[in-house]
Amino acid sequence: MVQCFCGMVHDLGRRGFLGALMAAAVDAQAPAPASAGPADPALIEDLVIANHILYDQGVVDGFGHISARHNKDPNRYLMSRSMAPALVTAEDILEYDLDSTPIDQRGRAVYLERFIHGEIYKLRPDVRAIVHSHSPAVIPYANVKVPLRPMNHIASFLGGGVPVFEIRTAAGPASDMLIRNAALGHALATVLGPHPVALMRGHGSVAAAQSVRHVVFRAVYTEVNARMESEALRLGEPTFLNDEEAAAAMKTNDALVDRPWDLWKRRVTAK
Ligand code: MN
Repeated sequence: MVQCFCGMVHDLGRRGFLGALMAAAVDAQAPAPASAGPADPALIEDLVIANHILYDQGVVDGFGHISARHNKDPNRYLMSRSMAPALVTAEDILEYDLDSTPIDQRGRAVYLERFIHGEIYKLRPDVRAIVHSHSPAVIPYANVKVPLRPMNHIASFLGGGVPVFEIRTAAGPASDMLIRNAALGHALATVLGPHPVALMRGHGSVAAAQSVRHVVFRAVYTEVNARMESEALRLGEPTFLNDEEAAAAMKTNDALVDRPWDLWKRRVTAK
């Protein structure tokens, strides 16, 4: 059960908001068009830059990945071949269908956990970009019962609750913790439900958003918020943004993501 921005408590596992999303997702998957052609080069460029920014900002290291839904075909997404994000170039970007099968693999290795992306895109027609990371300040909130909550207005997207995915529920007690098939990806996507961020116990987190720039913003500030919250908990009992403040601040921030993006981009492109 999760308290949402709207004030309602949604049972994400069975009905309500998620049920509506899943019905919409079926519609989104229904057509199986021929490839709509190459993705917008500007989208590829943003995706490459995003890989570099996420490393520069301490969200990913050798591990972690970011994807973008194909701008011409909602049943496809774009993501690097299996490699460290900081080293990704446009030539490394592959196209996948929503079952996370590469369209033209050409012998290249693919991320074991690509199913995170395909299964979230299936359930969330609104999502156009996803980050999976093991960013270190966030993981403690996946492993203890203290919830991750918005400390300041920049991380207001954390309002409405941050669900935690327990892989033992879906994979039993002896998994290697990885989202290595579609069933586990679907289980994670179901726990994420309508939220922007979900935590993965003993592993990391996922962030979802309407664009590459928005999802980078969310991934970076999820990590920043986790650091702030841990510091606040050392000092005393924090007051968090309430759901109304969070919803209002998120609306404001969603219009401002280009400002930090331009700064972060300059850091990784300036030579
Ligand atoms: Mn992982």
